[in-house]
Amino acid sequence: MEKRIYNVSAGPAILPEEVLLEAQKDLFSYKGSGMSVMEMSHRGKIFDGIINAAKADMKTLLGIPDNYSILFLQGGATLQFSMVPLNLMPPNNKADYISTGSWAKKAAKEAKRVGKVNIAATTEADNFSRIPKQSELKLDADASYVHYTSNNTIYGTEWHSEPEVGNVPLVCDASSDFMHKKLDITKYALIYAGAQKNLGPSGVTCVILRNDLLERSSDELHTYMNYKIHVDNDSMYNTPTTYTIYIMGLVFKWLLGMGGLDVMYKKNVEKAGILYSAIDGSDGYYRGTTAVEDRSLMNVTYRLPNEELEKKFIEEAKKVGFEGLKGHRSVGGIRASIYNAFPQHGVEALVDFMSHFKKNN
Ligand SMILES: *Cc1c(COP(=O)(O)O)cnc(C)c1O
Repeated sequence: MEKRIYNVSAGPAILPEEVLLEAQKDLFSYKGSGMSVMEMSHRGKIFDGIINAAKADMKTLLGIPDNYSILFLQGGATLQFSMVPLNLMPPNNKADYISTGSWAKKAAKEAKRVGKVNIAATTEADNFSRIPKQSELKLDADASYVHYTSNNTIYGTEWHSEPEVGNVPLVCDASSDFMHKKLDITKYALIYAGAQKNLGPSGVTCVILRNDLLERSSDELHTYMNYKIHVDNDSMYNTPTTYTIYIMGLVFKWLLGMGGLDVMYKKNVEKAGILYSAIDGSDGYYRGTTAVEDRSLMNVTYRLPNEELEKKFIEEAKKVGFEGLKGHRSVGGIRASIYNAFPQHGVEALVDFMSHFKKNN
């Protein structure tokens, strides 16, 4: 078998090897059907089984209550930046947005096209290196909803618990940490996540929404933009991204096989712990870029003593098999994305490399 690299790309990101091998087995002819999943009708019996199993497994993994719907849509998390306000801003046409990074800002930008946006808090003055405290949030009790971004992919920060928003519906962009741990879904009105970070290939976006919110979706909306249409049509109003849904379904089976999200979370805490300990134990050679209490378990961001060394670090790491270590230009330095599928031995190899690099440089 060909050798695989250590892929620490922020997204599209690493998939479990077991999933890739399973897909390879079924690529030419899916379970004796004589065709691949890519070639079959989305209205046929086989694909029906695939999409229903993916929904059922997601429901089991997250413990999603019956009064929520699960949608598999297209357009990425980016389309949700528009769909959320278009559907949920009425009746008040005002919403609260918590600004913790570039994606959060992009979400607020689209909402502003629909209604009034109150930035309930922003940590931009600190280059988004931290998550705002509950006491900093200036929430409007009459807002249509509160939007926040659970994990800030670029900056390496993460909310370790949900903001408290009282009775106002809570909406979350969970694109880069969705299903890295179990959530209390009842705290949320709507959660969305593009698949290509922690769930599967790009092309499918998961939306979980509480059914009472569908009352807000106006018939005047463009058809594809209307959540109610997608719920009424079981995510099959138009052709869904059949193959990516199939792969995501395999990822769900992989998570179930491992023992579920509590087991996954333990592994994630352990993995991130190894890497952050190496950073903190480097006598200041490696420096984390975020507030320690807000560190992400998924995207670990850090810097070296200077940019020249960072460049060298990335080049030499590439030679031993690490791909995707370059941090986003707005933070600089290094970013290692260690999503669910990234193995612990990969983190250990990175820590080893860091220790050698420090010694030699
Ligand atoms: C990657 C990312 C997005 C954008 O996702 P697309 O699927 O490319 O639209 C939005 N929000 C967060 C938090 C992300 O990490």
